[in-house]
Amino acid sequence: GRGLPADKVKEVERGPIVRIEDVCRRYGLPNKVADILRNSGVRELYPPQAEAIRRGALDGKNLTLAIPTATGKTLIAELCMLKSVLNEGGRCLYIVPLRALASEKYDEFREKYGDLGVKVGIATGDYDKADPHLAKYDIIVATSEKVDSLLRHRAKWLADVVTVAVFDEVHLINDPGRGPTLEILIARLREVNPEVQILALSATIRNSGEIADWLSSELVASEWRPVPLKEGVYYRGKILFGDGSKHILGVRGEEATARLAIETVQGGGQVLIFVGTRRSSQTEAKRIAEKVREFLSQDKLEKLEEVASSIEAALGEPTRTCRLLAECVRQGTAFHHAGLHYLQRKLVEDAFRDNLIKVVCATPTLAAGVNLPSRRTIIRDYQRYAPPFGMQPIPVLEYKQMSGRAGRPKYDKYGEAVLIAKSEAEKEVLLEEYVLAKPERITSKLASEPALRTHVLAAIASGYVKSLQGMLNFINRTFFAYQYSASRVESLIEKILDFLREEGMISEKGKWLSATKFGRQVSRLYIDPLSGVVLRDGLMRLRDREPSDLGLLHLICHTPDMEIQYLRKRDYSELESIVKSYGDEFLIQIPSEAEDPEEYEFFLAELKTARILQAWLEEVPEDRIHEHFGIGAGDIRRCVSTAEWLLYAGHELAKLFGIKKACSPLRELRQRVRHGIKKELLELVRLHGIGRVRARSLFNAGYRGLRELARASEAELMRVEHIGEDMARSIKRQLREGVM
Ligand code: ADP
Repeated sequence: GRGLPADKVKEVERGPIVRIEDVCRRYGLPNKVADILRNSGVRELYPPQAEAIRRGALDGKNLTLAIPTATGKTLIAELCMLKSVLNEGGRCLYIVPLRALASEKYDEFREKYGDLGVKVGIATGDYDKADPHLAKYDIIVATSEKVDSLLRHRAKWLADVVTVAVFDEVHLINDPGRGPTLEILIARLREVNPEVQILALSATIRNSGEIADWLSSELVASEWRPVPLKEGVYYRGKILFGDGSKHILGVRGEEATARLAIETVQGGGQVLIFVGTRRSSQTEAKRIAEKVREFLSQDKLEKLEEVASSIEAALGEPTRTCRLLAECVRQGTAFHHAGLHYLQRKLVEDAFRDNLIKVVCATPTLAAGVNLPSRRTIIRDYQRYAPPFGMQPIPVLEYKQMSGRAGRPKYDKYGEAVLIAKSEAEKEVLLEEYVLAKPERITSKLASEPALRTHVLAAIASGYVKSLQGMLNFINRTFFAYQYSASRVESLIEKILDFLREEGMISEKGKWLSATKFGRQVSRLYIDPLSGVVLRDGLMRLRDREPSDLGLLHLICHTPDMEIQYLRKRDYSELESIVKSYGDEFLIQIPSEAEDPEEYEFFLAELKTARILQAWLEEVPEDRIHEHFGIGAGDIRRCVSTAEWLLYAGHELAKLFGIKKACSPLRELRQRVRHGIKKELLELVRLHGIGRVRARSLFNAGYRGLRELARASEAELMRVEHIGEDMARSIKRQLREGVM
């Protein structure tokens, strides 16, 4: 007979597999995989997942999977990785945008697949380490920056051995900060290892077809979600949904956000409220908390009390934000933003997942990462302050990421995402511009000078590229070249090569480019080449002088790698008086206020950042730092961790250039920054479990070093503030075993 066309026959033969054990059987995965997945609640594939399998994800084909958040992209990646590891002895990379997500995935994979003998590793640490132990893992979870740095030097082997590379949240190619590294990394991996299977996981974006085409991959793009989502706009007591239906609110007499939140909590649901700033996440949480409290049972309130105490204890010394957060949490509400310490954020997230916390007021950073589904998501602020334009509406892509958080599988029939309008006209605009709109196209951000500067040097220093033409050939493999063309950045690349040559990072023989020692070191240190220049020139200015703490701290804050803290009006007078008193300690030419007011302003902001680090080093309590400078615990930690890295980079460069006067001060400062301590505590913090607070208590109690501690008994140590029985025992044990 005529029968079906060949490809149709194939499709019918293969059939739509949906049961997880059928997938395992067909692709030769052990039954145990199906058992593990069933235990985690996965019995059948969701339709887009089935489509991904049908398109050959488990036959080794490249795949771009562009589906809404929380619709199981990870599962497809897991199946591909397991097949590669268990059946083919493969090695996999799972690349995520944030360190926090890396540890989340690492824990998850290890817990789920450890019993199968799959060795899961994580690589997020210092950027200049080669991590030889990585060779023993089957699956490595890492950030794109970490993998980029690994491919720059001693771990180049990684690119050759990788069989499957997963890129989670690949739409972040659109992000000016991290996008360039992501697309460079993908292009590099495919160049070095054309056999690697690429799985690109993306939110729903308008041009997922372009990503798929660039990656020569199959495309599965879908709007399907396990829990249907209703999106609408609230105006005057009613929600008008995109599908034309209406809902009249049961709760009266409150302002819009509170009404929407209370209604959901009353009905037993949970609420996420997205607001524009950290401050408003706190004030909103405080306001809502009082109203939510009355709907909680005594039992829940008691459990919340425990969560609140853990939050207060999380940092050793509770800050004002800690106390405010704890106060809200006691009443079943929380706020969530990047100013919080990650332990605090984690406590909030866990308590929300356990359905103890009913309402979370968050800044949009939450939408980009952690999985926290709620019944109703309220997008209170759809505008954001974006200098120099003022308030700007957020992109549809961001709105979709926030609204997509609504709907808890197995708990909610559907999720609701609600925007709030203040007028009839605004209601119409919001419906059209967000609810009914499609997300934007994403575009490559590679043509930015700082990004290219870094990657051009890296390509030369690691020997991937040896000439201008070679550089352009490589750029040709990026998403940028796919969307525009490599020639669009040719003149920028020439300019960058000039800069690198003038600063002595590369040298040129005929058309051949190679990196100098300085260039290789800067690339290995994973800093912007401009930071390398700033550090070198600043340290050179020392000549025979001893550097001061403030001078060195300001120097690292002067590099483009440091995230500078904003100035507030009240900061000026203090900062200016410091400039007057300590002007000769700075390792740069201070810009003149009269001639270049903008540069001067920038200088003051750098100085403010340096002063925050200095306060941290002088053991000023975090709460005071927070209040005095108007920044949060999370900001302090981020600033500290960048500072640690830059001080290390400074130290390595001082060694390279033989600036001896700077070496030991930089080394010491780095140790102090890491712990937030004065010099006199350096010896004590060598003990495991002893940080800035405990070391200070010990010191003040007369234990100034390890020798004094060795003479003390456990009972004596226990009498010191912040040192309990376990800690006293641990100290004595460490001393017996000999600390480092
Ligand atoms: P994404 O990566 O798309 O944001 P995740 O992979 O984190 O989403 O999946 C979200 C949740 O859905 C996880 O808890 C996961 O276990 C669950 N899940 C995924 N696929 C299925 C399935 N086929 N059946 C039931 N639950 C699933």
